[in-house]
Parts: sequence; structure tokens; C-alpha cells
Amino acid sequence: MSGFHHRLLLWAAATDRTFRIEDRNGERFIVGKCIHCNALRTLDLHGEPGPGTTLEHIVPRHHGGTHALANIAIACARCNGQKGSRLDHRPWHDATLQAVITRLKERREARWREAPEAWGLPPRPPEVEGPDPGTPSDHS
Ligand SMILES: [Zn+2]
Repeated sequence: MSGFHHRLLLWAAATDRTFRIEDRNGERFIVGKCIHCNALRTLDLHGEPGPGTTLEHIVPRHHGGTHALANIAIACARCNGQKGSRLDHRPWHDATLQAVITRLKERREARWREAPEAWGLPPRPPEVEGPDPGTPSDHS
């Protein structure tokens, strides 16, 4: 797994108000809720996902979805996989696909917060993988 992927996971969690840093037996983890089902998901402070924790792209990569923070979220592998196999490859105008995207976007927006400075995050990832273009894009 690349450092870029870890950054995406960290920033997806940091900008989601359900995620916080918890102490578990002297070790600190990032803990919060799956964007689909609210099950608790964990990652470590370096962005390494716990078992079954994955990065969700709300508008699927298949349909040109970017790494914009508003388009990424933390999800269970199972939830993410179900959306991937059942929906992501449907045509863009498919009503079910659109309904799911709309619902997830609304949920992501409702959970949105600015990333807490106390988390000491690595630099914010660019929307498209590769050299940082230098112009921070506005996700709003
Ligand atoms: Zn889930």
C-alpha cells in the first residue's frame, strides 16, 4: 500500500466528525464510523487501515471520481465491495447508482469537519495521484 493511499485514508478520517483518536491499551488508534453502515472502523496514526477498513470513492473511480476529500470516505471492506460489485459499473444514469451516490454525498457532507490540527497530518493529498500541481483545488 502506498504512502499516498495512507494519506487519503488519514485525510478521509480527519475530515469526518465521527472519527477521533482513541487510546487502546496504551496504543493510539483512529476510530470512527463506516460511511455506509456506521460500523466502527479503525486505522493507525500512520493511516494503515485496521482489518476490514478500506477507502471508499463515493463517485466511483470507474466514473471518473477523484480523490477529492469530499469524494472519499472510510468504509468496511464488505460495504465497499458490495457497492463496487453491484453498482459501480452500472451506467452513470442508473437510478440506483445515482440514489446511492446522492445518499453517500449527503452523509459525507453532514459529517464534514476541517481536519483537526492536533492530528499532525501529512500534507493534504492532491485530487489526482501524482506530483502536486501546487494549486489547492476547492472541493466545495
Ligand atoms: Zn460498513
